[in-house]
Parts: sequence; structure tokens; C-alpha cells
Amino acid sequence: MLNKSTLLIYALLALPVYGQPLDDNERRLIDWIDGHAEDAVALLEETVNISSGTMNHAGVRAVGRVMQRELAGIGLATEWIEMPETVDRAGHLFARKESGDGPRFLLIGHLDTVFEADDAFQAFVRDGDRATGPGVNDMKSGNVIIVYALKALEENGLLDGIPVVVALMGDEEKSGRPLSVSRKHLVEAGVWADIALGFESAVYRDGQDWATVARRSSSRWILTVEGRQAHSSGIFNESVGAGAIFEAARILSRFYDEVRGEEYLTFNAGTIQGGTQVTYDPSQNRGTTFGKTNVVPNKVIVHGGLRSISTEQLQRAREAMRAIVADSLPHTSALIEFADSYPPMPPTPGNRQLAAELSAINEALGRGPMGELDPGRRGAADISHVANHTDALAGLGGIGEGGHTPDESLDLTSLPLGIKRAAILMYRLGRPED
Ligand SMILES: [Zn+2]
Repeated sequence: MLNKSTLLIYALLALPVYGQPLDDNERRLIDWIDGHAEDAVALLEETVNISSGTMNHAGVRAVGRVMQRELAGIGLATEWIEMPETVDRAGHLFARKESGDGPRFLLIGHLDTVFEADDAFQAFVRDGDRATGPGVNDMKSGNVIIVYALKALEENGLLDGIPVVVALMGDEEKSGRPLSVSRKHLVEAGVWADIALGFESAVYRDGQDWATVARRSSSRWILTVEGRQAHSSGIFNESVGAGAIFEAARILSRFYDEVRGEEYLTFNAGTIQGGTQVTYDPSQNRGTTFGKTNVVPNKVIVHGGLRSISTEQLQRAREAMRAIVADSLPHTSALIEFADSYPPMPPTPGNRQLAAELSAINEALGRGPMGELDPGRRGAADISHVANHTDALAGLGGIGEGGHTPDESLDLTSLPLGIKRAAILMYRLGRPED
């Protein structure tokens, strides 16, 4: 029985020479994948047409049932992991095949999208080699690539030696809290794994493919501002002051002027409610507001996000924001609260080794070498939760545009490409000898 570190060395020793041409098994994989490209599109269409915004639990489960059918069909043992009621999320689909002597793979996808059931953007629409639809890129295409890469390996007799866990999360776009509960199974799978692969969208830019070896952390903040409600004829005088909305504007403007600008540090004010009657539910990202043009408002709530490359940078930004918040205008007060969401995924040597391997495959597929993507160019993902337990490579999904917008689209030719990359990567890293 080999332990985890022995397996890792064994996997690294198995690395092929760069520029190595495709072997017979790899050619068979490619033929199989090209022959099943339309089946992959059909699975994408089926899942995109099931609305599965994170808070639409029935929809997330329905997408999960489709993926369960597919993964069980490949012979993986599937399990729907329920979340406790207090977490208020649909749960996750895990599928396992733990037999085999090769390095252990964790393949990460997610079932949810940012488009809730009341969103106007709901349908898969195909136009030649391009498709639009909610989640068509982020990341139902990535889920399809996971399924078809495993199918290609299985149908060609190449999956037996590869231990694999597939984690399809039900709440990637809006993770359930606490993270210690909603990410427990994922982290356990990360401890088990030698190699984690994330299937969020692949990046093609400036005429080149890019590998994702690092991702920034992501966290949230809520700013609550209070002012003195009064007749607006008295605003700015000694007893009324500035009102909550001017104070909120001051704070956000100074965030923009003074905190913005450090490399890899970004923050966003996502939603704002202000007036004299204000409600906001951060778990739903929804609120209500009432106010009058002749009344000085007494309340504002702003909900935002913050991304950083390191824990130190995150702490520095939070301190600067707190100082600005404390510098209140007359008769106002404000409080900012921070909540962690994703840790950073730093660019480790192991991650870079995986990227070099993927780049060699990309070259063998005729697309040229891959660059290392600037971590400032993309957001966080669930792979960050396992990145301190295992080598990790992200961005193995499809290629598209407009994620998180009603223009989200996918280049359908990137489906077979992504399936080939993933299947050959697992095959090469999983080979017992070379
Ligand atoms: Zn995503």
C-alpha cells in the first residue's frame, strides 16, 4: 500500500518528456471524444435548461440527478450530500471510484448558477458552434467535461487504475455557512487527493491558452450606516447632520480613492439600500427601501466583496476600510463587518508542474504551449478550499464569455477540447510506468 507522498513522487516520475507525441491510447481517446462531441452538447443542453440558481434548491437537485445518472453510468458510486436545514442550501453530489494504484484525482464542478428562478435568462440557445444560456460556461460545460473525460477513459479501458472523486457542489456561487459545514466533504476529498482539478472555464486570450495555477481569495463585507432622521430642510445643520446616504457615499468614495490600486486587490460594492425604512437579507442578496425626498434618511446597508492574493493583503485592506468607516460625518455612524469566503490558492511548484503537463498536452493537440494566467484576471472557486492539501490546477472547463451576465456564452468546440485535455492529463498522470 503506497502512502500519499509516495504516490506523488511516483506520479511526478511518470511525467512524460515534453513534446512527446500522442500514443495509441491517446489517439483512441481523441477519436472517441470526437465521435461523442454531440452527445456532450446534448448533456450540456439538458442541464442548462434546468434552472439552478443557488437558492433554487429543487433546481440544483434536479441538475444533480442528471449528473448522478451520468456518473453512475460510468460505474462511480454516487451520493447526494444533504446540508443541515440551517445552512439553507441544496447539498452536493459526490461520486467515487477509490480503487486503483495511480495518484488520486479530485475533480471539482458545481451544479448551481447565479441565475435564480425569477431571472429572465433561462434557456439554452445554440447558433452553430456557439451557445448561450445560464451556466452554459459557468460551469455546466465544466461538469459535462468531467463526465465525458471519465466516460472516454472508461469506454477505452483506461479508468481502472485511476482513483477518482467527483465533487459537484450545489452552492459554489453563494456558499452555505458556516463553511466548516458546507465545505466539509470537499476539504476531506482534498485531504484524500493527490491532484485536484477544477473545471471552471478555461481561458483563451491574446491568441493563446492559459493555465490557472493560482487564484485570489474572496470575502464579503457589509457596511451599515446610521444617520439622524429629520425634515430635510434641516440637513447639514448642527442638530441633523449629513444623513445616512451622504455618509455611505463618503465611505464608498474614499474606498475608491484610497484603498483601490494595490496589485491583485479588488473590492466591489454589490448592492445598496438606503432611506428611512430599510431591510436587507444578505443570505438572499435582497432588500427593500422606503424614503422621501424631504426626509433625511437614517439608514443605509451596503453589501460588497473583496479579493486578495494573500492573507496579509486582505488584512491591510480591511484595516484601511475600517479607518475610513470610523471617520464619520456629523450625526452619522457606521460599522463594517467582514466575512471570509475563499482562501487564496497560491502558485505552488506542484501546481506549476501540473500546468506544464497540461501545456505539453495542449501542444500535442496542436494548440501551442499554455501561459500561466495572472491570478488578478479571475475570481475564486471551490478548488481554493483544497489547495493547501493537494496539488491543484484550475481552469479546465470550456471556453466562453460573459459569465454571470445574460450574455453568457460558450464556444461549443471547446467541449471536445476540454474533454481531451482532461482525459489525456488523467491518463498521463495516472499511468503506472512510462
Ligand atoms: Zn462557477
